[in-house]
Amino acid sequence: MRRAPRLERRDLVGREPGSIVVMVRQLFDQVSSTYTYLLADPTTREAVLIDCVFEQHTRDVALIRELGLKLRFTLDTHCHADHVTGAWLMKQAHGSTIGMARVYGAEFVDLPLAHGDVITFGSCSLEVRATPGHTNGCLSFVTADHTKVFTGDALLVRGAGRTDFQEGDAQTLFRSIQTQLFTLPDDCVVYPAHDYDGRTVSTIGEERAYNPRIGGGAREEDFVGYMRNLGLPHPKLLAIAVPANLRAGRPEDGATLPGAPSWGPVIMTYAGVPEIAAEWVADHRSELVVLDVRSAAELDGELGHIEGAQHIPLDELRQRASELSAERPIAVVCQTGKRAALGTAILRAAGFARVANLAGGMARWRELGLPG
Ligand code: FE
Repeated sequence: MRRAPRLERRDLVGREPGSIVVMVRQLFDQVSSTYTYLLADPTTREAVLIDCVFEQHTRDVALIRELGLKLRFTLDTHCHADHVTGAWLMKQAHGSTIGMARVYGAEFVDLPLAHGDVITFGSCSLEVRATPGHTNGCLSFVTADHTKVFTGDALLVRGAGRTDFQEGDAQTLFRSIQTQLFTLPDDCVVYPAHDYDGRTVSTIGEERAYNPRIGGGAREEDFVGYMRNLGLPHPKLLAIAVPANLRAGRPEDGATLPGAPSWGPVIMTYAGVPEIAAEWVADHRSELVVLDVRSAAELDGELGHIEGAQHIPLDELRQRASELSAERPIAVVCQTGKRAALGTAILRAAGFARVANLAGGMARWRELGLPG
């Protein structure tokens, strides 16, 4: 297998070594407008994934792999009504521990969480705070230094999670925000579970001042009156998402990953490129088409080419894709795998489903001393 270059600590956090800084990556699911958060101790590389989305499993796995992280926990801030959690899938991939509020009594949960629990990963930790109101089991996760809070749907950027279904209760939510979230420091960064307008993060001070539902000294009656009259449509996925989330996202038929390629050990990168290892291509050469997208001159250059490879230069690939047969999977190759990555994307757009970038290109092929 090709070894990913090891990232240095400064690549992950951009701070001076010594201080314990939780690395945070904010990921977005466009279908449900959900934010997933990948947190890690940059030194030990132990990581936590908050509110992962079933359909984004491949993306999340790719980022965890590329950053060299060890996923310890998946945590759900609540039983979601708008998407299915990827917690169970992640456990299959990484052996991670599934954490969710005890209140729901969900199946396949390894760590039933309650207020006051502490989740430790490396030298970092998260404090669990019960913030019910959007649902009866909503949790917020606060970093040990109180500089970051993952609020789920309890507190959103200039908003708050609806309280009109799933045991929601506006009065309860008002008290949760006031006592558990607005008591955090003003500069504590708020990371919400959703945003529908492209806003990303906020701070406790900002929300305490400007949140139109609960900021600026709003009283309980103001908040409750506002929340009771939102008039939102019923969530489309409620009937599917809630039962699935009460199984920690385990599919009913027990299937693993939807849509995983079956023709070879294809790895999807975080950049969205399907890659296949050079060694595997060499071992399965007769079952594959190798497509070289370099210029004609390069084929006989220093790196040479793989015996029997079909040749279509990248700048002609869109016009000449029909020359390729879809009968066998296609491994696309160039010098180091950059042009071939685009070639792979061009072929996928042209309807070739079984196609992948030969990882590392001819340079890697030669480095490994592979034949041809
Ligand atoms: Fe929600």
